[in-house]
Amino acid sequence: MGDEANPYESLKEQIDDAAVYLDADEGVIERLKNPERVLETNLTFERDDGSLETVRAYRSQFNGDRGPYKGGIRYHPGVTRDEVKALSGWMVYKCAVVDIPYGGGKGGIAVEPAEYSTDELERLTRGFATELRPLIGEDRDIPAPDVNTGQREMNWIKDTYETLENTTAPGVITGKALDSGGSEGRVEATGRSTMLAARETFDWLDRDVEDATVAVQGYGNAGSVAAALIDDLGASVVAVSDSGGGIYDPDGLDTRAVKDYKIETGAVSGYGDAESITNEELLTLDVDLLVPAALENAVDADLATDLEADVVVEAANGPLTPGADDVLTERGTWVVPDVFANAGGVTVSYFEWVQNRQRFHWTEARVNEELERVITGAFEEIVETYESENLPNLRTAAYVVALRRVVDAYEQGGNWP
Ligand code: NAD
Repeated sequence: MGDEANPYESLKEQIDDAAVYLDADEGVIERLKNPERVLETNLTFERDDGSLETVRAYRSQFNGDRGPYKGGIRYHPGVTRDEVKALSGWMVYKCAVVDIPYGGGKGGIAVEPAEYSTDELERLTRGFATELRPLIGEDRDIPAPDVNTGQREMNWIKDTYETLENTTAPGVITGKALDSGGSEGRVEATGRSTMLAARETFDWLDRDVEDATVAVQGYGNAGSVAAALIDDLGASVVAVSDSGGGIYDPDGLDTRAVKDYKIETGAVSGYGDAESITNEELLTLDVDLLVPAALENAVDADLATDLEADVVVEAANGPLTPGADDVLTERGTWVVPDVFANAGGVTVSYFEWVQNRQRFHWTEARVNEELERVITGAFEEIVETYESENLPNLRTAAYVVALRRVVDAYEQGGNWP
């Protein structure tokens, strides 16, 4: 990983970079750089040996001008108040850039989940859901999965909420298992929009994605699905990594076999005859497309000067520091921003919520078709804004599109005395 840029400072810088192209009141922009509220709480839960443990947890509701707060819940030792604030802010602009009727929120618990049993994680998750209960709701705030959480945790939160509220409210959370009201295509959605973003970008640049070589950093939900779907486009995924290191095969990796290997062994390292590489080596490989799909700050300004990829599609949230962004803009590297590229996750979460509210289940084909319509439409708008307003890069263009929508929604609401 690169420098430890504070992700909340990065978010504010990204908003400032775009705000100069907007005809918006300074006070409104200031409002849009700060969360409306942040819950910070201590959760005490019982370990299997009967002892008690207390951990720190957060939920940031950044902005609700365009709809209910929406955003995932992360379990990771690196979770901090500022990280959660940044992630919740990115959700505001992500929902706005793909024009789905949500605001932004995010939550997290500062824990290493691998150190706990399933029963302990269930007690911890139900404890968090109990704390969140007054804040969340189908029309209020709708959490979802993020790093180290998935269907299992979402199902526990839904069950806790419904039990305490004595109701059924599947739309209180998204990313659920199918039998608990989940949507077809949700697990793949973030990787799918990453693939669509890569495909549309190569097409726009008049380059053949089928001839592209690709490196993917992070091989979890977002990274492994993106790798497989980009592989399906005919591109050659030559390197992938996880927190234990990376693997490289110039002839291309079998992305699905690598995923099976990781599920079996817990890591990508050691797969087949692939050469072992470090994460830094992966990020600086001479490939056509780099997909950072791990965590924030993977590439700082120093590392950016060594990046060889022509196109970077951000599957992770905030993988480039603002300093890295400046270096890559200067060098002419195309960076397809997170708020657009990984928006597939929240878009299919929105479809899940729509299905829950209608008590109606869509086919996978319908989900994927609607997702493709949203992502390709958003890409056209970003590119049109980038070209017609002569903006410095695609990130600024995405923020200009998004900020305009949020500012309009706020101003249309008028002032409450
Ligand atoms: P995940 O827990 O499924 O996977 C994370 C992966 O990153 C793992 O393979 C892990 O080993 C790897 N990793 C962690 N630290 C690393 C390091 N220092 N170097 C290399 N690899 C490292 O999480 P995910 O859901 O795939 O999320 C990944 C990123 O995508 C996050 O930034 C998340 O916010 C973003 N995202 C996820 C979704 C979603 O729907 N899952 C949606 C939007 C954005």
